[in-house]
Amino acid sequence: MRGAVLYAPGDVRVEDRDDPKLVEPTDAIIRLSATCVCGSDLWPYRGVEAVDGPSPIGHEYAGVVQEVGSQVTTIRPGQFVVGSFFASDNTCELCQAGYQTACVHKQPIGAEGAQAEFLRIPLADGTLVATPELPPDDLVPSLLAASDVLGTGWFGAVAAEAGPAKTVAVVGDGAVGLLAVLAASQLGAERIIAMSRHEPRQQLARDFGATDIVTERGDDGVARIKQLTGGLGAHSVVEAVGTQESMLQAIRSTRPGGHVGYVGVAHDVELPGTELFYSHVHLHGGPAPVRRFLPELIELIWNRRIDPGKVFDLSLPLEEADEGYRAMDERRAIKTLLRP
Ligand SMILES: [Zn+2]
Ligand SMILES: [Zn+2]
Repeated sequence: MRGAVLYAPGDVRVEDRDDPKLVEPTDAIIRLSATCVCGSDLWPYRGVEAVDGPSPIGHEYAGVVQEVGSQVTTIRPGQFVVGSFFASDNTCELCQAGYQTACVHKQPIGAEGAQAEFLRIPLADGTLVATPELPPDDLVPSLLAASDVLGTGWFGAVAAEAGPAKTVAVVGDGAVGLLAVLAASQLGAERIIAMSRHEPRQQLARDFGATDIVTERGDDGVARIKQLTGGLGAHSVVEAVGTQESMLQAIRSTRPGGHVGYVGVAHDVELPGTELFYSHVHLHGGPAPVRRFLPELIELIWNRRIDPGKVFDLSLPLEEADEGYRAMDERRAIKTLLRP
């Protein structure tokens, strides 16, 4: 099969890879209908995270089941399925509590390399959620978005306790931040402030339900949020970047008693203890347990109540994955969809 392989920072190649095979009796093999490049793929692509030799890459996927192992009971060949970037059994105590990305049997899908024609899914019964039937082609991007960015933005909004009568601010205008805006809107937030200085992203944030746009960042961004909230700060702030600056911006934009939902993969973030102590904010986040939300998100997409696929503003054949990475790296694209 064909699949993307990251050789070194800035060097993604699509080449022949071995077809995945069933390894465990709980595995499934899927044929990808679509896959995509994640903001978190840009960390190794930019050399911020070490690249460990040529390695398959990609962790977001939606497609049709080809084959299942002998112990798979609920997932069947022919079903269209979506799953999260961590395989999980969905039965252990942590899964049952809604933290499938902390499953005691979790396995990273990224290690299998989802930017490819076929993909092995461990723990298929626990990991995959099937759609009611094969989706029409125009729903595929939105279903793919549920695999990570929608689920992650949704968790960010839930962790920030977005809801009725709340003012929600979102730090970060990548796909996750934009979909956190959509989630906050669906969760009934009264006011949603998107922090972005890029016009096309501001427009998409408004389409997803943002009521205000703040273009300032850092201390100026914090001051602007305070100004918009009677000097108090937002009730709920979603942090969707993962840097020191964005994390502090999120904490400082939150009112005492408010909640920060942090879903940007943290890189060299160090929190000042004294400031945290006096801030009175709740912090909750981490790798989003997307699996918790998948049934609900798939239903919303299936009934065309939400259209998260709009974050894909570039669609390319898998063979052109390198251009897909470049476009995101240079911020020419918000998110690249790849068609195997
Ligand atoms: Zn991702
Ligand atoms: Zn589990």
